[in-house]
Amino acid sequence: MATSKKKVEIPIDERETFVSLQKSFAEGEGGVGQKLHTLYELQKADNAIEELVQLRGELPAEVEALKAELDSLKAKSAHLEELIAGYAQAVEKHKEEIIEFDAEIAKYQKQLENISNSREYDSINKELENLGLLRQIAEKNIDEAHKSMGERKADIEALADRIAIREEDYAAKQVELESIVESTSKQEKTLRVKRDELAALIDARTMSAYNRIRESVHNHLAVVPVFKGDSCGGCFNTITPQRLIEIASGSKLIICEHCGRIIVNPDAE
Ligand SMILES: [Zn+2]
Repeated sequence: MATSKKKVEIPIDERETFVSLQKSFAEGEGGVGQKLHTLYELQKADNAIEELVQLRGELPAEVEALKAELDSLKAKSAHLEELIAGYAQAVEKHKEEIIEFDAEIAKYQKQLENISNSREYDSINKELENLGLLRQIAEKNIDEAHKSMGERKADIEALADRIAIREEDYAAKQVELESIVESTSKQEKTLRVKRDELAALIDARTMSAYNRIRESVHNHLAVVPVFKGDSCGGCFNTITPQRLIEIASGSKLIICEHCGRIIVNPDAE
């Protein structure tokens, strides 16, 4: 009697042995078979919750990716607009140059009317020739700027089509995300209620072991069924025949000797 009282007082220890866990599991209220079933149901509820959380976690990333693509397309378009503005400025500058060149040309041509010697004539003609060349260059630059503007405008139009399509995708995805968040939240709430009800049926020590195993394994499976008749559903190592019999009978809490997971017979009640 003193020893059994002492047992209850043992704190839940991370280093507790499987044997003591098995004992406390067997000692609590309710049959072992029923408790194993409850543990398995708890694991399934936790899996379902995890799936929902994951699903909800991936969708915002998809929406974000669409938004990023949209932003990048808009930034490209804005950059093209800037280039066009730059070409327009260049055109204005060259037009002003041409006005200046024309004024100078007119001035020199007037001088030609009152020429006094051939040397002066040659020098003025050279200036006129020079100004003519500069004027041609300015005109060529204007033509090129116009051509570039036309090309950039075509690029912007093509981008506008892509942006319009992406805007539609983005709006649709957002609606989808909202509805999924809403429905998964409802499902998750229901699952959590069920999960808590199941957890309440299991003793504290077993729950502590359950949580500890879940945290320590990558797939968060603490309770696994037998896989293909003779292997652990968590690590896929072969289970000894003796243990298989114990698992099948559902009369004992069996922990995989390889991975530490609890192995159950899902068909046992
Ligand atoms: Zn295992």
